[in-house]
Amino acid sequence: MPVHTYSIQPKDIHAHLFEVRVTVAKPASDGQKIAIPAWVPGSYMVRDFARNVVAIRAESDGVAVPIRKIDKSTWQAEPTDRALTVVMEVFAYDPGVRGAHLDSTHAYFNGACVFPAIVGQQDCRCKVDILPSEDGTGKHWRVATSMQRDGAEQYGYGGYQVADYDELIDHPVEIAELTIGEFEALGIPHAIAIRGKVNCDMARLCHDLKTLCEQHLSFLGVPEDLDRYVFLLYAPGTGYGGLEHRWSSSNICSRDNLPYKGLEGVNESYGTFLGLVSHEYFHLWNVKRIRPAAFANSDLASEAYTELLWVFEGITSYYDDLQLLRSGLITTQQYLKLLGQTITRVERGAGRRRQSVADSSFDAWIKFYKPDANAGNAIVSYYAKGALIALCLDLKLRLETEGRVSLDDVMHESWRRFGVTGKGMLEPEFEEMCAEVSGLDLGDFFDAAVRGTGELPLENLLHRHGVLWKKRRPASRDDKGGDKGDPAKALNVTIGATLTEQNGKSVFTVIDNDSAAEKAGVAPGDQAVALDGLLLDAANLSTRLKRYRPGDTLELLVFRGDELLTLSICLDAAPENRIFLELDPAASEERAARQQRWLTV
Ligand code: ZN
Repeated sequence: MPVHTYSIQPKDIHAHLFEVRVTVAKPASDGQKIAIPAWVPGSYMVRDFARNVVAIRAESDGVAVPIRKIDKSTWQAEPTDRALTVVMEVFAYDPGVRGAHLDSTHAYFNGACVFPAIVGQQDCRCKVDILPSEDGTGKHWRVATSMQRDGAEQYGYGGYQVADYDELIDHPVEIAELTIGEFEALGIPHAIAIRGKVNCDMARLCHDLKTLCEQHLSFLGVPEDLDRYVFLLYAPGTGYGGLEHRWSSSNICSRDNLPYKGLEGVNESYGTFLGLVSHEYFHLWNVKRIRPAAFANSDLASEAYTELLWVFEGITSYYDDLQLLRSGLITTQQYLKLLGQTITRVERGAGRRRQSVADSSFDAWIKFYKPDANAGNAIVSYYAKGALIALCLDLKLRLETEGRVSLDDVMHESWRRFGVTGKGMLEPEFEEMCAEVSGLDLGDFFDAAVRGTGELPLENLLHRHGVLWKKRRPASRDDKGGDKGDPAKALNVTIGATLTEQNGKSVFTVIDNDSAAEKAGVAPGDQAVALDGLLLDAANLSTRLKRYRPGDTLELLVFRGDELLTLSICLDAAPENRIFLELDPAASEERAARQQRWLTV
């Protein structure tokens, strides 16, 4: 089989342009087609990366070959019987984990954003040359990627190689002044490469990551092809997010989320970082190697629809925190707090009564990834509710099989059936597997929890595992729940809307359906002016509301555009929708034993 040769090099750092070259040894006889993906695996939105290609030309033996565009993402060169080289200039100024970004401080790219596929020859091996800018900028930067080296020094510019196009776009590359830590997990070399001015306890970080990765590796077993792993991390002042790959993940979190020397235990901030990397690492099994058939068969040219995103994101979200508990990095109390916050997030969203997680998965492309002011009313998160379905399923299986089967067994079977074999998971196959592994009839559960919009039987299931579900009123709109809170701070009333500071103005951004604000006629985009004759802004809303009772009717002034509106708002009672969980001190022996089996390894 021929080998494709790719190269990538900054062409003009200040114009954020890469030059990408690919040479095809045996181009198609009717004219070689090349195509840039419309989306990047793991991020389910059509982004049309081809729009960043600002120039393209082709040549063969030093002679120009005409090349023209045949659809939004595809080009076709005139036939040639010699090797064909295509040269592109690609604009790179998207700072997220799923984009490509080039400036005077670093170069970062996902292959999907910069490397075209050689249509019909995607299975060929590829050599990849990663080159520094010719003007000398960044020549001392280090290269972090999980791509297999082929001539390059470790963390150096030079030659790399991949087995096929699928792999080419599965190794994001970060090139910058990096802080790098290395460790082994079950003997497999791991590294974390951090961009950003950080002052963190690297020994502690590597120690904890090793503990966490070993917990994951011993849970589902080491994939045969996992011979290395790299956490890429960008740590600016603020930010959060991650994208999973087979041998690496790209992560963003605040530098303040990293552990400092002398930090005792895992505080909430560091727990946020550990939860993020735990999530992305679990994906190395669940979604990267156990894949929905829709993704396994996609050419990335258009949407790949599946109702199973809740399986891949929801179950991963359940295990990300559970694995922190199992590895001993967080305590049971900390775990229950995180769980209480996830429950609160789902309980607060009215969208869960409108949309099932199956529909949310299917429509992720146009809804979850494109949220607007109505998102909370209309959309349910397949992450958060998916995690609660996973929890319900875990507890239900444990309860109804008398501890014989848990979600762990389903995941082991999923790994055997789909991960080890590489066979894509068809739409009904997760549910079928749950029934087979447990021997239970789970049709009603899946109808209600996955395809329906009713309440999950979580309170009851938790109670029977020795955990009490408690609720309280919020202290503010952004109160995340999960803890007991301070009763003195609890609000009596609510307007049912989010007021956000935007460029010095306080703007209503989210209006809950059937809320006081909606009934008063407040609309997204309205600028708050005054409530009951006093200045109203995002910072003082909770304090203002403390003075009133449910049913009080007040004058509310807002600007819609530049016109002042006088509205009348009747305050609602604040709902008891902040959930927190407590171990039941009076749990029966049977329930305490179930609790033990669930919350300890
Ligand atoms: Zn995820």
